[in-house]
Amino acid sequence: MKEGTGLALYDVTVRHDGPFGPVTAVDGVSLEVPRGTTVGLVGESGSGKSTLARAVVGLDSPCAGRITVGGREYRGRRAADRRRLGQQVQLVFQDPDTALDPRMTVRQSLAEAAGAFVRLERRSREQRIGGLLELVGLDAGCAGRLPRQLSGGQRQRVAVARALAVGPAVLVADEITSALDVSVRAALLTMLRDLQRRMGFAMLFISHDLAAVRHVSDVVAVMYLGRIVETAPTESLLRGPRHPYTRTLLSAVPSLHAGRRPAGEPLLAGEAPDPASPPTGCRFHPRCPVGPNHRPGRDVCANRDPHQDAAAQPHRTACHFPSRADDRPPHAGGVHQDANGGPTPRTPGEPPS
Ligand code: SF4
Repeated sequence: MKEGTGLALYDVTVRHDGPFGPVTAVDGVSLEVPRGTTVGLVGESGSGKSTLARAVVGLDSPCAGRITVGGREYRGRRAADRRRLGQQVQLVFQDPDTALDPRMTVRQSLAEAAGAFVRLERRSREQRIGGLLELVGLDAGCAGRLPRQLSGGQRQRVAVARALAVGPAVLVADEITSALDVSVRAALLTMLRDLQRRMGFAMLFISHDLAAVRHVSDVVAVMYLGRIVETAPTESLLRGPRHPYTRTLLSAVPSLHAGRRPAGEPLLAGEAPDPASPPTGCRFHPRCPVGPNHRPGRDVCANRDPHQDAAAQPHRTACHFPSRADDRPPHAGGVHQDANGGPTPRTPGEPPS
């Protein structure tokens, strides 16, 4: 991984105190988001996506690993470091109301976020605020309105404008479209891509909505129980997912395959395990449709932790038996199927089942 550009995470681990002891919410995650590009982070609820986002913006402190922005590490303990990190990395939440004070006008919110604006002449400040509103496609007339006088989409645009007011190097967008309806969502995503082209920030885009992730992401990273299990350029991952978890995740999204779940591709079974006591070996093995519960001879899955295959960059998979690159994807109208209805995986050295 090259340092010096955008956002980089090196073996980042984040632990929380749970009712029965420490819980490792993020476990040894490494990820790179170069400037001007977007990495989409997907996974079930509880996979650690939002904890990772909080660590990136300094709201959670990693107990191990490093996070750098533009090659510089921010430890998040010293006030000066936190202030600089705040200028470099901005977070936009799902609910814009958490970022906007209901008693403040849009103008006041933007002026507060920019901080330095208050030292500008009134006319210059108005110009800057007008420029920010224009940047996010809002009329300058919005400046005097309160959040409740705006639509949901407009409020989210103001939240984005607030985040961009300080010219961050990294934007973390955590489920920012999930409260919006479809047409508003598409317009917001197009706007984000356009802003990124103009401003060059790196973006970590977290979403359950795989169609939204596809729209904005250059690379997709799939998270399961605190770990990244697959990373690849967006189309490579969506057309040819190799990790069984990614395959089941994609198969459950009708919008990715013309409204129909492909025949034979299993849906994700059972609940995600408790992160306080993750399964041995591969964390996905109790639920894996092609793991040891379904394939005799795959004991290795329960005993040995698979790591992402760095040699296979840019498509990396943490699985002992990833699907072959030429396996047909779950949303391409059918897959190679085995006797269990799962995709046929690569089977190096294992006995035939
Ligand atoms: S390592 Fe085994 S259990 Fe884990 S995802 Fe791969 S095949 Fe399934």
